[in-house]
Amino acid sequence: MNKIKVEIDSLSGFCYGVIRAIETAEKELEKNGVLFSLGEIVHNNVEVNRLKNKGLNTISHENISTVEPKKILIRAHGEPPETYETAKNAGIEVIDCTCPVVLKLQERIKRAYEEAKQCNGIIVIFGKKRHAEVNGLVGQTEGNAIVIENIDEINQIDCSRPVFLFSQTTKSIEGFEELCRIIAEKIEQSGGDTAMFKAYNTICRQVSGRKPHLEDFARKHDVIIFVSGKQSSNGKVLYQSCKNANPNSYFVEQSGDINPEWFVNCQTVGVCGATSTPKWLMENIAEIIRFS
Ligand code: SF4
Repeated sequence: MNKIKVEIDSLSGFCYGVIRAIETAEKELEKNGVLFSLGEIVHNNVEVNRLKNKGLNTISHENISTVEPKKILIRAHGEPPETYETAKNAGIEVIDCTCPVVLKLQERIKRAYEEAKQCNGIIVIFGKKRHAEVNGLVGQTEGNAIVIENIDEINQIDCSRPVFLFSQTTKSIEGFEELCRIIAEKIEQSGGDTAMFKAYNTICRQVSGRKPHLEDFARKHDVIIFVSGKQSSNGKVLYQSCKNANPNSYFVEQSGDINPEWFVNCQTVGVCGATSTPKWLMENIAEIIRFS
């Protein structure tokens, strides 16, 4: 008899923005049976395939004007203004599921960009280059924002100019704070005015709030199975937190990735995931571990 105890983290799973986008898509599919999502609705292949079976197709920007019926869904990551323009010109209706948190961040960056233009300032976004959310943020600055993925790229920032720093919603707080500290140091070293440096922590609380909770969860169990799509930025950040708290943490995308050897001499397993991980997938994986 298998004695492994498996617990699913109660706070893991879809965040508010993803739930909202998927529910909107499902309602539309119930009515019309087909819908086109601009980019994958969520960074999770298993969930994308589930929705595909219901009629949700993924399209790229090049294909916007070819969709039939003339309707596209914009996912929680948001889009730059050009996308809305393209859809409008092609007579395509937009179902806008941009997460309200991202929408607010887009508006803040747009206002800061107007301010920066008055004082020769620069907009810096701490985020992943070419990530959909980041593309939407850069779009608020007519493409002029500088995107910094990590501290090594700091030389791209001209610290003699006023700097307005924002973060992609899914970056780690530690990385953001370190970047703030190094930029401030660089300004001081170059004899600049640190009062001209404005840093806005725009990391989503749905991500940052889960981190300490997940670390506690990871410490409680012998083995951690972290379930997420490989493309999920948030998944990478939260998995790293688990791995730091418990070295016996494993990243899986689906049940087939599970290796029974991980559970040798193990009494408790914790199953958790990212803001893009469906609850039903974590439940399936927990069942497989329980009866393995
Ligand atoms: S992580 Fe936060 S900002 Fe991103 S979609 Fe979810 S709720 Fe919105």
